[in-house]
This record gives sequence, C-alpha cells and structure tokens, in this order.
Amino acid sequence: MTSIEQNIEHRLISILEQVSDPEIPVLSIMDMGVVRSAIIEEGVVKVEITPTYSGCPAMDVIGDDIKKALKDAGYKSEIDLILHPAWTTDWITPRGRKALEDYGIAAPLEADADKDALFNGKRIVKCTNCSSQNTRLVSQFGSTACKAQFQCDDCQEPFDYFKCLK
Ligand SMILES: [Zn+2]
Repeated sequence: MTSIEQNIEHRLISILEQVSDPEIPVLSIMDMGVVRSAIIEEGVVKVEITPTYSGCPAMDVIGDDIKKALKDAGYKSEIDLILHPAWTTDWITPRGRKALEDYGIAAPLEADADKDALFNGKRIVKCTNCSSQNTRLVSQFGSTACKAQFQCDDCQEPFDYFKCLK
C-alpha cells in the first residue's frame, strides 16, 4: 500500500473537500487522492494535483473547480500538475472507494489487474449490486471515456467500472 504524501494546510482541507470529481459527483478530489499539496505562500494558495490518468477530460475541469472553490473562500490560487510519481488507485481513500461503490461504479483495480479485466477478459471486477465476480466487459467505454461498462451475469445488472489505465 503506497500512501499519498500530502502536504495540505489544515484550513484548506475543508475547502478542497467541497470540490467534487467531475466524473463522479459523489466523490471529492480529496477522496480521489489527486491533491498532492496545498500551501499558502504570500497570500496565494499553491495547489499541486496529479491527474488520475492522462487523457481524462475531467482533469481539465478539476483545476478550474479548485480555483473557483478557493476564490469563493477568498483565496487567489495557482494550480500545478504533477505527473511523477503517477497517480495510483491506492490513493483513493477508503471513504472514496465506498462512495464509488454506493454510487454504482466499481472502484479501479491495480493497473496490472485492470488490464487483465479490460483486455484479457479475466473476471475480477466485482458487481456493484451483488458483489459477484461473475461479470463481463460490455464496452471499453461506459457513460464517459474514463469508465468501461460491465454487466453482472448473476443479477444481470449493468454497471460502470472506473478505469485506471494510463
Ligand atoms: Zn450482480
């Protein structure tokens, strides 16, 4: 388990927790683990974020949303993208994983397992409805490009799986 190394000023946490992931409105960017640091320097909040994976259109929106939330709280801000080390699914908090599943989206697996599930047809993605692993890939692209669509062969429920492919 790699945990995120965060350096976030305490008074900024509650502001950043109000910024939700554009892909998954129930999940904050804090729970997603994309915020690496947020410090106040000479009156300006400097925020470093790491995209969940490149090419996800949501990431363009997140920077703007962070700026807006900080502005509403009276702060000027600068956003920096940090690409290394790359974001890993381990950075999603336990609360974030639960929110994903409650929302009907299967939480991402490790990158290697993710590839097996998406390309090799391995049955390792759990159904969000009944937790069965008897699921199959329906489409590489679900409701958005960042998700794949799966269907459960036990309860027949379709659901989205949040991809962690880079
Ligand atoms: Zn099911």
